[in-house]
Amino acid sequence: MRAAAGLAALALCLAGLPPGARTAGLDAERGGVRAAVEAWAAPQAALAQALWDQPELGYLEHGASALLQQQLRDAGFGIESGVAGMPTAFVARAGRRGSGPVIALLAEMDALPGMSQQAVPMQSPVPGQDAGHACGHNLFGAGAVGAARAIAQWLAHSGVDGEVRVYGTPAEEGGSGKVFMVRAGLFDDVDVALHWHPGDSNSAAQSTSLANISGKFRFRGLASHAAISPERGRSALDGVEALNHMANLLREHVPEGTRIHYAITDGGQAPNVVPARAEAYYYVRHHDAEVVREVFGRLHDAARGAALGTGTEVDFEPLGGVHGLLPNDTLGRVFDRALRAAGGLEYDGDELAFARALQDSLQRPGALASAREVQPYRSDIRGLASTDVGDVSRVVPTAGLATATWVPGTPAHSWQAVAASGMSIGQRGALNAAAALAMAAVELYLRPELVDAARAEFDRARGGTEYRPLLQRAEPPLDYRRPAAGPDA
Ligand SMILES: [Zn+2]
Ligand SMILES: [Zn+2]
Repeated sequence: MRAAAGLAALALCLAGLPPGARTAGLDAERGGVRAAVEAWAAPQAALAQALWDQPELGYLEHGASALLQQQLRDAGFGIESGVAGMPTAFVARAGRRGSGPVIALLAEMDALPGMSQQAVPMQSPVPGQDAGHACGHNLFGAGAVGAARAIAQWLAHSGVDGEVRVYGTPAEEGGSGKVFMVRAGLFDDVDVALHWHPGDSNSAAQSTSLANISGKFRFRGLASHAAISPERGRSALDGVEALNHMANLLREHVPEGTRIHYAITDGGQAPNVVPARAEAYYYVRHHDAEVVREVFGRLHDAARGAALGTGTEVDFEPLGGVHGLLPNDTLGRVFDRALRAAGGLEYDGDELAFARALQDSLQRPGALASAREVQPYRSDIRGLASTDVGDVSRVVPTAGLATATWVPGTPAHSWQAVAASGMSIGQRGALNAAAALAMAAVELYLRPELVDAARAEFDRARGGTEYRPLLQRAEPPLDYRRPAAGPDA
């Protein structure tokens, strides 16, 4: 109680102090919120483990969402769940609304299909389980909740004006969950959005990402016996193959840096049946959203041509659409300071043995000692992934950081990422992330001029352009991860 009262007095005094004294006061405040994060280390690790034990795919994260919400409710957050038409999405709020900043922390929670893996340093799926946390979103969600709890506690004790929110954002992996939340206006009164991601190093470097449009082309033909009466059939798989061939020719005639990928998600079941249905799932990516729109338009032309030439019909279901990240250097530097204060990860004996064994399986293992270090700050990285955080960053100043939750050299979406996300390396890396998030938020509450500077940078970068979603569907694809049919179909 005495510590809390001391903290409150310190925070109240801080705003009126000269810069030198403010720095010393800021360090004390950051130390206080970090201690609050560390006091909750064991429950945060248990929360991350609970999500990892029961990996759930996009829009099906009912257990994970409920667990995250429960921890926030217990900490006094008010919760609105099922927002923007998504049963597993939520917004949790704590703190006071006056003139102080509203800071949103993003919390992802979905797993990936086909990535089952035990928390051991050799490839070994969990028997009877398909999904796995190969992007570490179990850590992402738990770390955001741990940070938010500490920030809420600090706001309450310090008397500083401001609000902290957690956005439970489902289906990051291809479901564009955040885009529906952006479109619903849920970020309209947010001053700053902060996020983090599991990684194989500690870095607050700010990067761009690729804009992305995705969706499924579904061809319909006529089934017939492939040997007795092929002339009476029309192969939907031929439609898919013709489309794919044209897409592969298209690659030569698109702007540099365009990425086109596809998977045949239905190619028929039996060679002796002319397939009546077939489906290809496409992604088109580029740094420039207009290039993505244009190239995807040409894929639609190719699909029509493929259907015409094969005597089939085709329709298209849009699934995802995300903008590239708009980096914010002002917030990136706040994050860099916080991450340096949080520090990296020193492995204990068991973790070192785990990391060494796991490194034998990596194509390009990194130096284990790098998990201890924080990478130099940069704000000019051209990222090659895509994320629905991109749309958030187009409506509110946004920044992210990464911590070493995975053994150095581990790529995302690998069994090695699943393994480390389910044990102490991942959990302790997530604790560093929570500490950095909380310390960054405290600096922003105490120095609101940084929030104003981040907004001014955001406005300059936007250049007056209106936000126009790339997403082409009205409702979330809540069943995009459900199997299309039963096991016998
Ligand atoms: Zn991912
Ligand atoms: Zn991810």
